[in-house]
Parts: sequence; C-alpha cells; structure tokens
Amino acid sequence: KLVSREFKPEATIIDINGVKIGDGSLVVMAGPCAVESREQLLEAAEIVRAAGGQFLRGGAFKPRTSPYAFQGLEEQGLQYLAEAREVTGLKIVTEVMDAASVELVAAYADILQIGARNMQNFHLLKAVGRCGKPVLLKRGIAATIAEWLHAAEYILNEGNYNVILCERGIRTFEEYTRNTLDLSAVGAIKYLSHLPVIVDPSHGTGKWRLVRPMAMAAVAAGADGLLIEVHPNPAEALCDGLQSLNPANFAVLMEDVQQLAAFL
Ligand code: PEP
Ligand code: MN
Repeated sequence: KLVSREFKPEATIIDINGVKIGDGSLVVMAGPCAVESREQLLEAAEIVRAAGGQFLRGGAFKPRTSPYAFQGLEEQGLQYLAEAREVTGLKIVTEVMDAASVELVAAYADILQIGARNMQNFHLLKAVGRCGKPVLLKRGIAATIAEWLHAAEYILNEGNYNVILCERGIRTFEEYTRNTLDLSAVGAIKYLSHLPVIVDPSHGTGKWRLVRPMAMAAVAAGADGLLIEVHPNPAEALCDGLQSLNPANFAVLMEDVQQLAAFL
C-alpha cells in the first residue's frame, strides 16, 4: 500500500509555503469550530498568531448532527478565512464536505479538511486526491486504524501524497467525554505509515479543561501537530463552545506544548 512504511520507509514531510509538517517540529492549527462572522474570525486569527500558531482553522461548511444547528457561512466564510490569512500570515485549514465543493474550497484553503463523518466518503476522497492541495484526513467516529489508512490510500492512489492524518477521538461506551481520544493511534500510525499524524484534543474530549493535558500527552506521544479549537468568547460560540479554549487558556497551552516539544 502507498501509505505504508514498507512502500516508503522515510517519513513524509509536507511543505506548505515554508511551514513543514512531519519534520520533527510541532505545528499548531487553531481557531474556532465555525467561522461565525468577520469580526469573530479576525479576532480569533490574531489570538492564534500572537500565541505562535501556524494555521488558522475554522469551518465554513459545518457537518452538524442536527439540521437545525448553524450550518456555516459557506463561501462568505471562505472569504473571511482568506482575509484572515492576508492580515496574519497564518495558513488556512478548512473542511470540505462534498466532492462538488472541492474546487471552491481549494481556491481559498491551504489544507483541505475531511471531517470524521466523511472519512469513508470515497467520491470525496478521490476528488481531494485529484485537487492538488494537501489534505487533513480525520479519523472516522467509529473507524479502526486500518479503515482510516485505507481511506488515506484512496487519496494517495489519485496521486496526492500530501496527506496528514488527524486523531480526533472515537465513539466508545464512555459518556463523560464526547469521544475517547485514542493516543495509541499516534504510535501505531508512526509505525505503520510514513504520513504525518496530528491530534485534535478538542473534539477528542469535548471539554475545554481536558484539552491542555491531552495536547501535552499528544506531543509526548510523538504527534506532528495539534488541532485546537479556540474562540474569542467560548460562551457565545455558535458551535462547540464547551470544548473551545478562551484566549488566555490557549496562550497557556501554547507555552506548555512548545516547552515540551523543545524538551523532546
Ligand atoms: C471540526 O473540526 O470542527 C469537526 C467537525 O471535526 P470532526 O469532523 O472531527 O467531528
Ligand atoms: Mn468543532
């Protein structure tokens, strides 16, 4: 298989206009769950930049569990993301939900995110495999590591080797946390595959108090990066406020993970 260590023994390093993922440095992608407004996004972007993040995240197309929940600003949201990139110099990672939107999202994003709910949307995987942009592939809500790697294989098989895997927790019997963050997946992916792997402790726990400790654990486990939800005012977030860090707690997390990464 193209994703395997047997096929390619050396680690894949993805270079996104000078920001490298998988080279041993720690990359942080952070921002609100959803792009809510121009003001909210520019404020969040400045928080991420000031604390030392490299990527701004934020969904313009939101895969919500309920059809009545906020669905995203769509292309307007993509335009705000592009504006935030202009202002801060941060790179942009944002979700694409269907094959028909790949061209549109790829025109704005530096990395295309495939959400957990779409991990086995094979038409979408093939479409991002052909689009020429790096892809962040989240682990499915109930996907095994083998199924996750098969999903990545669909993208590589179309000629796109710039795939970053993202552990974001899996559904288990535990209900205190939103998902169960499977940090053993980091070591397993490093052994089985040459692709970089990052960890999302925000969706992985669903609780902002657990985000910093699990981010630390992810770095210690050898993750190439982190995906973190941060909001200027989590209490007013339209999406995932309970797991979003406020600016002060995000700054603390950044100091701690950078210190740990430097020590390792
Ligand atoms: C997200 O990153 O906001 C998101 C929807 O994540 P997931 O697909 O992991 O649920
Ligand atoms: Mn979210």
